[in-house]
Amino acid sequence: MVIKSPPSQIIIRPPVEAYSVLIAVTGGCNWNRCRFCGTYKGIYGITQDYAIRPIEEVLKDIDHYAEKNFHGYPVFLAGGNPTSAPTDYLVKIIKHIRLRMKNVQRISCYAKALDILRKTDEDLKRLANAGLDIVYMGLESGSSEILRMMKKGTNAESMIKAGKKVLNSGIKLSLYIMLGLGGKRLSEEHVKETASVLTEINPTIFRFRTLNIMPNTPLWEDWKRGDFELLSPVECLIEEREIVANLGDDVTSQVFNDHVSNYCSLESLNIKNDRDAFIKTLDTYINDPRIQNLPRKNLTRM
Ligand code: SF4
Repeated sequence: MVIKSPPSQIIIRPPVEAYSVLIAVTGGCNWNRCRFCGTYKGIYGITQDYAIRPIEEVLKDIDHYAEKNFHGYPVFLAGGNPTSAPTDYLVKIIKHIRLRMKNVQRISCYAKALDILRKTDEDLKRLANAGLDIVYMGLESGSSEILRMMKKGTNAESMIKAGKKVLNSGIKLSLYIMLGLGGKRLSEEHVKETASVLTEINPTIFRFRTLNIMPNTPLWEDWKRGDFELLSPVECLIEEREIVANLGDDVTSQVFNDHVSNYCSLESLNIKNDRDAFIKTLDTYINDPRIQNLPRKNLTRM
């Protein structure tokens, strides 16, 4: 049985926000068509329709955390893509957080490229001025062919536009790259085009995740039919190595492998300075027979 859940109940957040105050703003995803994503498709026996929470409920949550003395924490505006909500609504929420909760370290949320493109430059500036510090956006791949195949609803060009728009407004940008998303067939394309889009945007941060397909996703069906070939752990690490090796010289992003789906943990606070060391470390893993024979994780929960 699949139960419907209200927007305050399925709360997803990046690992970096694990110790943040999580305030649900939107529920579900206004797109919900990506073939690799099962978050709102009943993975835990719960589905969630897209909804924007009533502002009174959100402000009440903020007051609750303020009264419970959650000052000094980062705040994550939860939901698949809160930037789909109207700017006035978001500005009101962000200002209320800044007013009620003292010394908030950071206010952040997920963002979808299409929602960012629907906002004007002025909208984004208002969000930045209110105190939105950073958005986390799924680039997944820089290849338009892979994005189309995965029904991401964007292409490389719109990703670049959205990324630059965020950065120009003064909001920091963290992008996710999904290793293995092109399968074996489009692995080379995935590497080349992802490095090219990252070079074009030069995001504040980019983070690697590794494709892990869940049984409730359309991509799982493709894989079962033999239409999609998953990469092995070492092939995912080779993709990561090649993406970093193909970045332009002016990319100064922070880079993190900080997700349970990854096969190694790595970080750089400036990939321009650390590129050689980053690649050398990846080569050590890639050439290690234990990694070469490692089976895929196939996580059922994340
Ligand atoms: S990956 Fe993001 S945009 Fe795509 S369906 Fe999942 S939550 Fe929505």
